[in-house]
Amino acid sequence: MFAGGKLRGRAPEGQPDVQTILSDAGYSIVNGPDQWKEGKHGNKVVLLNAPYHLDHIGYTIDSIKGNLTLPFITKACIEHMEKVSPKKFFIMIEGGLIDHALHPNDAGAAVKELLNFDESLRLAYDFYLRHKDETLIVVTADHNTGGMAAGVSGGPYTLKMKNFDYQRTSMQAMQYECQRMIKNGDSITWDFMKTYLGEKLGLYTAIPINEKQDKALQEAFRSTFIDKSTQEKKTLYVSLNKFVERTFNIMDHITGIGWTTGSHSGDFVPVFAIGTGSELFQGFQDNTDIPNKIRRLCGIQEHTSGK
Ligand SMILES: [Zn+2]
Repeated sequence: MFAGGKLRGRAPEGQPDVQTILSDAGYSIVNGPDQWKEGKHGNKVVLLNAPYHLDHIGYTIDSIKGNLTLPFITKACIEHMEKVSPKKFFIMIEGGLIDHALHPNDAGAAVKELLNFDESLRLAYDFYLRHKDETLIVVTADHNTGGMAAGVSGGPYTLKMKNFDYQRTSMQAMQYECQRMIKNGDSITWDFMKTYLGEKLGLYTAIPINEKQDKALQEAFRSTFIDKSTQEKKTLYVSLNKFVERTFNIMDHITGIGWTTGSHSGDFVPVFAIGTGSELFQGFQDNTDIPNKIRRLCGIQEHTSGK
């Protein structure tokens, strides 16, 4: 079984596309949670979003109706694999939107994705509790993104995590919303955007704004909505206008979040493991050893190339 947002990429000239390869291999495609729940699929199945939805499964913080979610996919995979391969199975689940949120440095969206990932992990853990002697769960990351730090120069001494509770939009959704307003030629007033910042991020309402921050926000508002500056900060998955960029900079500063990059970083990442064979995953290790250790525990030959 495979699951995710949608099939991406185009086949090189003269070669079959992914959809054809999958159907030739006997896979059927199920679109969206409702179709999945009908349960008409066979053993070989690909679960995707309904076709009219986003490329990815959508940020948790944006709560997009009708989209798949990581916990839904996790539950569907565990139940499916338990049914079609009751003796043994392997599942790899990636919380890919954590990385997506961190590339443009959207701390609130990333924290909500981590909580979403934690919910998926809880489902795997429940399975482990039912099959303790024969289940292994390994949790890790292939890299850090953004170099997000708890603490920023000139920011508060302790993190103000509560601020994340007021954030009701991802940085990306706010950028798209602003773009839409500008494109529609709406006449946007500062009062309107000030209310918007309160509703979507808690700024000026639950989170107080000082005079300097207020001036900076109004200046960015004028540049983006009145002067219609097209200057944008490019990040890997989204370009940000000055207003969105400054809003989130101020939000980070008030909350106490620092960043080192918009790319992947070279920090150590943790490895957590529980269950049978988990003692193999203690302490620092080369990330390329992890799949080999899993292979060894499954009695499959280890990979030696590329080391
Ligand atoms: Zn990335």
